[in-house]
Amino acid sequence: MDDRNLITGNMSNRVYEYSKSNSGNLYHEYGLQGGGRSNRFHEYSKATSGNSRKLKELLLKNDNRVCADCNAPDPKWASANIGVFLCLKCCSVHRNLGSDISKVLSVTLDEWSEEDIDSMAEVGGNSSANSIYEAYLPKGFSKPKPNSSIEERTKFIRSKYELQEFLKPSLRMVSTKSSFKSCASNTDLEAFYSPTSSKNSADASESIGTLKIKVIRGINLAIRDFRSSDPYVILALGQQKVKTSMIKSNLNPVWNEELKLPVPQRYGALKLQVFDHDMFSADDIMGEAEVDLHPFMAAAIAFGDNGLPIDMQIGKWLKSSDNALMKDSTINIIGGKIKQEVHLKLQNVESGEIELELEWIPLLH
Ligand SMILES: [Zn+2]
Repeated sequence: MDDRNLITGNMSNRVYEYSKSNSGNLYHEYGLQGGGRSNRFHEYSKATSGNSRKLKELLLKNDNRVCADCNAPDPKWASANIGVFLCLKCCSVHRNLGSDISKVLSVTLDEWSEEDIDSMAEVGGNSSANSIYEAYLPKGFSKPKPNSSIEERTKFIRSKYELQEFLKPSLRMVSTKSSFKSCASNTDLEAFYSPTSSKNSADASESIGTLKIKVIRGINLAIRDFRSSDPYVILALGQQKVKTSMIKSNLNPVWNEELKLPVPQRYGALKLQVFDHDMFSADDIMGEAEVDLHPFMAAAIAFGDNGLPIDMQIGKWLKSSDNALMKDSTINIIGGKIKQEVHLKLQNVESGEIELELEWIPLLH
C-alpha cells in the first residue's frame, strides 16, 4: 500500500490530498486584501489576471512571507514545481540545481503558466512543502539564515531538494537522471558562475541586448595582503564573464571602467566578485554581490526602443534585507539612455562596497 495515504493527520498527506481533490478551489476563501500589500511587487509587475491573483493570495499567507529555505523576509521568487517561495539568494542556488529539480520563477515579473500556478497552489506554499522536505530534519539542525554564505545555502538546498535527505525515506524519489551529477566535481566558484536553469536549451544564449556596466569604484575594500589589496572585479551574466583591470595597493580603487555583457533571453542575476590579485598563489576573494536585473530589464523592455527625449525616473530596485543594496537603486532615462545606479555592499566579507552604473544597449533593428 502506498505509504503516502496511510497516516491521516500527517502534514505530508496534505500535499497529496490537495492535489487530488482541490485543484484551485482551496484559496477562494482568501479575498484579495487592499492595495497596501502590492508594495511587495515591483513597479513593473504584470497586470493582475485571475491566475496571478491566485498567486498573490498565496503570497499573502503568513508562511509564504519568508523564504522557505533561509527565512529571509519578503521572498519574491518561487520554485513552481516544488511549491515554495524563495529569496533571491536561495533562488540563485535553486537555479543552479537545474530546472528539472527546481523550476524557478519571479513572482512579480515572469509570465506564469496555468500549470505552474496550479502546481504552486496545490502544494499550498512553504509550510506544506517544508512539512515534507524537512520532515526528517535532524534534531538541532540549523537551517541557513538570511545572511548565510552561499556555500552553506548551497549545501542545505542540495541536501533538501536534490538529495532529499530530510524526506521521509519511503517518499524519496529515485533519481533517474542528472541529479547527482555535479555535486562532487563542482567547486563553489563553478557553482557560483554556472549558467541559469536552461543549460540545454539553445536559445538561452541568444542575446536580447547588451548590458553596459561601468564599474565606478570600490570603497573600504577588505585587506588581503599586508596592509592593502590589489583588487579587480569580475562580472558574470549567464555563461559570460568580464573583468576590470587590477589596481595595485588600493582599498578605495577608482576604475571608471566600462564592460559589456550580452543579455540572454533567460537571464539570471548579474554576479559580481572582487578579487585580490596575488603574485604567488591563487587570488583571494574579497566579497561578492548579486544584482537583480528584473527591474532594469522590465524598464529596458518598456522604454528601451522609444528613445524618450526627456530625462525621468522609470523604475527602482528597492533595498531589502535579502539583497546587497546599500540604498534604493533608481532606473532613469538620461539623455535618451536607460541607466541604473547601483551601490552594493559586498557579501561574505568583512567590509567593502562597489558602485556600478548599468546602461542598456538595445539590439539594432
Ligand atoms: Zn532564502
